[in-house]
Amino acid sequence: MTTTTDQQTMMIEAARRFVRERIIEPGRDRAYDESGDFPHDLIREMWELGLINAEFPEAVGGLGLSCREHVDLVEEINYGCLGIGTSAVANSLAALPLMLADNEALRREYLGRLTRDFGYAAFACSEPDAGSDVANLSTRFERRGDTIVLNGRKRWITNCDVADFYVLFAREQGTRGHAGIATFVIEAGTPGLSWASLVHKMGQRCSHTGDVVLEDVAIPASQMVAGPGHGFRLAMATFDRSRPWIAASAAGVIRRARDESVRYALERKTFGEAIINHQMVASMLADMEIAWQATRALTHAAADAVDAGNLRGTHSAAAKAFGGDAAVRVTADAVQVMGGYGYTREFIVEKLMRDAKLLQIYEGTSQVQRLVIARDLARQLG
Ligand SMILES: Cc1cc2nc3c(=O)[nH]c(=O)nc-3n(C[C@H](O)[C@H](O)[C@H](O)COP(=O)(O)OP(=O)(O)OC[C@H]3O[C@@H](n4cnc5c(N)ncnc54)[C@H](O)[C@@H]3O)c2cc1C
Repeated sequence: MTTTTDQQTMMIEAARRFVRERIIEPGRDRAYDESGDFPHDLIREMWELGLINAEFPEAVGGLGLSCREHVDLVEEINYGCLGIGTSAVANSLAALPLMLADNEALRREYLGRLTRDFGYAAFACSEPDAGSDVANLSTRFERRGDTIVLNGRKRWITNCDVADFYVLFAREQGTRGHAGIATFVIEAGTPGLSWASLVHKMGQRCSHTGDVVLEDVAIPASQMVAGPGHGFRLAMATFDRSRPWIAASAAGVIRRARDESVRYALERKTFGEAIINHQMVASMLADMEIAWQATRALTHAAADAVDAGNLRGTHSAAAKAFGGDAAVRVTADAVQVMGGYGYTREFIVEKLMRDAKLLQIYEGTSQVQRLVIARDLARQLG
């Protein structure tokens, strides 16, 4: 079990202050949701405060926070806004394959860049016909001497329009299944690479999501992070490591929904009583607290397993599935606690509900998490 250090307490307090003073009090969670603009200014401020890229190792200029320290930061930021949180954590997601792969040169170059200079990265795995089914991806590459040429289309790529580089998965021409998949770093601005089709989303509207298009994109072979046979495993290992962050995001939005609900229930009166005194309302509030404590406990268990070096996919999948499902239920209940007012844009809870839904979808749907858990059980007991 990791204990809280003074430095960690200070970082959490800095994150909490940032969220309160720069996001919630000025109403920028709502403003960015309405405009759908990308929150560049806030992400830059977070970078300056050391609130993003926080798990990057000290060897590349990062803070080298433990996963346990990082998930607590992620929870605080996502208390403010899941859309801003997703935009902020996208760099870390793109960085994970570089942190996990055995490629020191690319790790130093690209993670070093994100710690030295402010910038963005994107993780590009999903495709129009391959989301859950990663082994079915069709973006392909061929070798021409020391050059790699890529063609294909990626979909649902967070930060696609702002990224300075992409960590991208593609298969060797002519292969099928997971064996042919490799991983590359590709610079934005490389001829033939473009982004397209930003999607209009239900929630998390200020995080930008769209396609990355590759038309005869030629890169040096040295940009290969992991070769065929290793890329698929690297993608799966990345998800195992990143899912605790999504669970932490769920803990953040659950706590926000709880706080908004309790404050409202103390003020609003029906039948001559504050509604918090009606047992059915109180029960919803208590369930919110239970959901928060349970999500946080599962998140910490997964993060502690990362830090102890004994993470199994089932730890992260359990935290992510439980947290995502709980966030959807709790935010819908927050709307319920506020009655008709909860259903309007006057109150933030309708936004929390729209934002939370994505937690059950990206980085593996809730169904896929259950597949991971069931397969682990079968391996243990079969
Ligand atoms: C806003 C947003 C941001 C995203 N950001 C990124 C990103 O930065 N990088 C990236 O690479 N991807 C990203 N994604 C992609 C995301 O990870 C996929 O959308 C997700 O994995 C689901 O894939 P899919 O949409 O193709 O759904 P599908 O795989 O088609 O699934 C459709 C439904 O079938 C179910 N299903 C599928 N297979 C099974 C099965 N074997 N058993 C049971 N049920 C199953 C699913 O649970 C789901 O309910 C993002 C997606 C969104 C919406």
